[in-house]
Amino acid sequence: MIKTVVGSYPVITGKPEKLSEKIKDLLGLYDKYESGVKRAVQDQWDAGIDILSDGQIRGDMIEIFIKKMYGFDGRRVTGKIEYAEPITLKDMKYASHLIRRRLATATALTGSPEKKSGKGIKGIITGPCTIASSIRVEQCYSDKKDKNLIYDLAMALRKEALTIEKHVTMIQIDEPILSTGYYDLDLARNAVGIITKDIKVPTAMHVCGDIMSVSEELNEFNVDILDHEFATNRKNLAILENIKKDIGFGCVDTKQKTVDSVDAIKDLIIEGIEILKNRDDIDRKKAIKNMLDKHVLIDPDCGMRLLPIDSAYQKLKNMVTAAEEVEREMKEALR
Ligand SMILES: [Zn+2]
Repeated sequence: MIKTVVGSYPVITGKPEKLSEKIKDLLGLYDKYESGVKRAVQDQWDAGIDILSDGQIRGDMIEIFIKKMYGFDGRRVTGKIEYAEPITLKDMKYASHLIRRRLATATALTGSPEKKSGKGIKGIITGPCTIASSIRVEQCYSDKKDKNLIYDLAMALRKEALTIEKHVTMIQIDEPILSTGYYDLDLARNAVGIITKDIKVPTAMHVCGDIMSVSEELNEFNVDILDHEFATNRKNLAILENIKKDIGFGCVDTKQKTVDSVDAIKDLIIEGIEILKNRDDIDRKKAIKNMLDKHVLIDPDCGMRLLPIDSAYQKLKNMVTAAEEVEREMKEALR
């Protein structure tokens, strides 16, 4: 099973310490967030995550995007929304560079030829409806639900997707607002479709919260993977029987500081796989193996930005241990 994260990681910012950094700081070129990306990648790598994120440490999921688009003054919409410049590219490239360096070191240490590592970076884009729900419309559009607003955001976000696709293993659209029923799901589906159309890497959509009432419609979105929370919202398990996509299986509580035990995470993953296997119309053994190998990505329920960093790290570590144990034990039982 592939182990990944939803996206954000607790933010650590740096201070200029080396002479070269102090000089950069004087010139206004010192990037205090770079050490945050480094820490996020390092912790995810050490925890055993396969598809890592840059930690989304430059702001919350809304600010990161709108501060680099035309048409915004803070959270206020003051003009037509358009793509201005790459938003997450710099951190994607840096995170990927860090991973390549770690892979090279690992290879040098073991002396073995570099295997296909399975390690990669996830590109993350906050969805148009979720952005629209968190801004104040003052000009150009009628309100937060104006379809022109949603489509302009989608067009801008598509440009970001095209900008980062060469550098990432997959692209995830974050649309948590869709669980609330606030947006028309046909509009949301069209907007997400604008972003993901012809994107060459696998695409996912993360919708946390209780998704019981919207899951049928989410099946129709143009993405390969649907990512939901199951630890905080165990009743979401019921949707697995009818889900038509690959599944991002959130199995770690990201709201509580308390670290989820390996056994609790294992129980949840097993429960999920037991339901998912029923949707494949082949024999049980094959169905379970298929789920383990191809169709389930293991991740936390949601972003980890608000957790203490030690708790976030330990949660990821327990999640990876649990996923590996489940995979090993289930495969042994199938022999
Ligand atoms: Zn979420």
